[in-house]
Amino acid sequence: MSTILRRQILRKCGGMDIPLVGFAPADRWNDPPFEPWVPEAFRPASLFPGTKTVIVIGFPVSLPIVDTAPSIWYHELYRTVNAELDSSGYRIATFLTGKGYPSVWIPRDGYGSIGVLKENPIAFFSHRHAAFCAGLGNFGLNNMLLSPQYGPRVRFTSILTTAELPADPVLKEPLCIQCRRCIRVCPVAAIPEGGYPQESTDKIACATRSEELHQRYLSPCGCCIKVCPVGKDREQYGREDMRMYDEKSPVSDPYRRARDHVRSYGSR
Ligand code: SF4
Ligand code: SF4
Repeated sequence: MSTILRRQILRKCGGMDIPLVGFAPADRWNDPPFEPWVPEAFRPASLFPGTKTVIVIGFPVSLPIVDTAPSIWYHELYRTVNAELDSSGYRIATFLTGKGYPSVWIPRDGYGSIGVLKENPIAFFSHRHAAFCAGLGNFGLNNMLLSPQYGPRVRFTSILTTAELPADPVLKEPLCIQCRRCIRVCPVAAIPEGGYPQESTDKIACATRSEELHQRYLSPCGCCIKVCPVGKDREQYGREDMRMYDEKSPVSDPYRRARDHVRSYGSR
């Protein structure tokens, strides 16, 4: 169990401006904290036999930009964050392999197109469950991983490593306050009333909306993550008053003016 290597990884992540990093032992997947849980074929040690630890990194999607979603601004931000995640994950895995601990990175999405996702709406690995196991947050009703820092406005990727590293504890205190804003805002009623994990999000309905938005350079949808009140980013950006999400607010409302303006350009 290498505390020194863990410190080196954290230093490296700090140098790459990665704000969220968590460590989960691979055998945490074998002790389901709730049902339904990750099937065996999707677990780290099945994908990369010899995995001892999963390192999960997260980058936020900036709240004021998500607040314009669906928009070209959020579309571009999403692409940028994805590129940062993939590049950082690859670099960390390469660093560890070079140190004598074979490691691999898993891309943040892992599907070829939304069309593929509609046919089989599940990726070969869940970074959300990895982030849960690495103590970076826990699940909301909307099936998203909520983090204390950014609520659901964070994207993750994972590095599977043969290095045995000290783990972070799982975050036990639930972050979701069950406000149901995410359920009410979904334009295609994809989030079930029962909420996750009792019921699963309708991934086909969500992917169909995403596909439609993609044709107009407006994907992803982002509506259920922008309205979630959880996350210190609300305080950071001074966006704690949830009335700003009223789409029928007066035209003098500065938040409405900003999102109307952004949505008028650069997309169909
Ligand atoms: S991303 Fe959009 S369509 Fe998908 S569940 Fe959230 S609100 Fe619904
Ligand atoms: S919007 Fe409300 S119900 Fe949905 S995940 Fe966030 S806190 Fe939970």
